[in-house]
Amino acid sequence: MRKPFVAGNWKMNTDSDSAVKLAEAIAVGSLETAGQSVDVMVCPPFVYLQSVGRAIDGSSVTLGSQNVYTESEGAFTGEISTSMLKDVGCDYVLCGHSERRHVIGETDELINKKLSAALAGGLLPILCVGELIEQRQDNKTEQVITAQIKKGLAGISAEDMEKVTLAYEPVWAIGTGLTATPGQAQQVHALIRKLLSELYNEQLAEKTRIQYGGSAKPDNAAELMAQPDVDGLLVGGASLKADDFVAIIKAAG
Ligand code: PEP
Repeated sequence: MRKPFVAGNWKMNTDSDSAVKLAEAIAVGSLETAGQSVDVMVCPPFVYLQSVGRAIDGSSVTLGSQNVYTESEGAFTGEISTSMLKDVGCDYVLCGHSERRHVIGETDELINKKLSAALAGGLLPILCVGELIEQRQDNKTEQVITAQIKKGLAGISAEDMEKVTLAYEPVWAIGTGLTATPGQAQQVHALIRKLLSELYNEQLAEKTRIQYGGSAKPDNAAELMAQPDVDGLLVGGASLKADDFVAIIKAAG
């Protein structure tokens, strides 16, 4: 039985005041479900990690980073290391979010290095994968997801894989209001689980949590979560409104 896992990706939103208020409201609102039936995590911008960490302290909401660098310290202007993230209370880190792939230009190879660095540094990575609309229209979804999974997880041992969560986020559904139908999500989640059983083993594939991301909202969360291979949600826009995010957490539970 995989415990549902709902994560909020705040992206480059909030300010010092609104980040803390949002975190506090999520901590209070998720009291009923978080920690018991649902794991909940939020990824604020780097600069608010500490204040958000303080705001959720004592609650069952955990802290994640939207990004990390591959090296542990040194002359890497503008980058943040795993030890810095651990130092400010992060447990999780997103690797390969579609905006990092397609806006910033991160490659599968860099994403794989970040994921390895995260594991080596004691963070729990969430590897995000997803196809562009043109790739779906060209019937290339399976090919794209397979390549992203294989390259993203290259060299990751079965032992380390136990600490990895996957997120299927069709790029055409992120921030667009278009959500994959529950059937479309299930199809790709089942493909990912099959890939995991081929790359590792069936037991590990059964244990691994696979989140769906792409315009998840209170009114579609339950039907997405009802799919057998959808184990959680990675939420962008709707995680910026505490009421919506809490409603999604409840629907997931
Ligand atoms: C995301 O950023 O991971 C995401 C899924 O965004 P949204 O929910 O806004 O589509």
